[in-house]
Amino acid sequence: MKGAPLAERIRAEVADDVRELGEVGLATLQVGEDEASTVYLRLKHQAAAEVEIVSVDRKLPHAITEEELLGLVADLNADEAIDGILVQLPLPEHIDEARVIAAVDPVKDVDGFHPFNAGQLYLGRPTHVPATPVGVMALLAEYRIPLDGARAVVVGRSTIVGKPVAHLLLQAHSTVTICHSHTDDLSRQTLDADVLVVAAGVPEMITADMVKSGAAVVDVGINRTDAGIVGDVDPAVADRVAFLTPVPGGVGPMTIAMLLSNTVRAARFRRGLLAFPLDRR
Ligand code: NAD
Repeated sequence: MKGAPLAERIRAEVADDVRELGEVGLATLQVGEDEASTVYLRLKHQAAAEVEIVSVDRKLPHAITEEELLGLVADLNADEAIDGILVQLPLPEHIDEARVIAAVDPVKDVDGFHPFNAGQLYLGRPTHVPATPVGVMALLAEYRIPLDGARAVVVGRSTIVGKPVAHLLLQAHSTVTICHSHTDDLSRQTLDADVLVVAAGVPEMITADMVKSGAAVVDVGINRTDAGIVGDVDPAVADRVAFLTPVPGGVGPMTIAMLLSNTVRAARFRRGLLAFPLDRR
């Protein structure tokens, strides 16, 4: 299951949508100089520029106070030219991440991390959903993986990937099991999976003896090792299953495409072209 061709198509659709909507604006906030965050943000801004989303990259010193950062979020909330706001995580320890995320206007929360948007997903009425899980679902749809009635196993329970992807699978009528670092006998769960989504951040932890023959496996992991970037799934799994996403080139390109797509969705919410289910006055 290659992500790049689908991601390219989604980006072309986003470019058409942006032309139709007029100007669409995305702002990112980065505190400090985490190297991985800088790389991810550069990719996001490049991708935004390619589809003519106007993007603003606010880099802030590590020493910024929580109140100052909240002030900047408030400014972006009030800025009519900004449709989407993304606070790049992690934030430094002296800043309460949850408080900052909750300060973002939910309609502009293109990361889908605000408690309102997380709650909407839990209620089965998704508004903004984190980009990586939406990308996983788009890949499964593209390759026509049956989800209704399927046994889906998610390895990882982060709020960024594991939990939201589990909710999306549940909404697609799969029977969902969520595994994590305290799961006893992981193989017993993974061997049962028709659809296996792995987001644990442990290099090649899923081996061929842990998967069901004919399954569809989505590898979300991105691990930097001496051997280069590897996923959470051993590539030899490909010999046993029907579908496997490569790393790199699988979920990664989808994440960025879906961020752009979420930004267009935010622009539609803000222009009243889509109803946002929250009275924000
Ligand atoms: P995280 O560290 O927040 O969460 C990891 C989860 O995996 C935890 O819930 C933990 O309980 C579980 N886990 C860890 N070791 C385990 C084990 N041995 N057995 C079972 N469960 C285990 O990570 P995250 O933010 O969810 O990211 C997960 C991976 O996905 C990372 O490699 C990250 O780089 C990658 N990622 C990729 C993209 C993308 O665009 N492709 C986006 C986000 C994250």
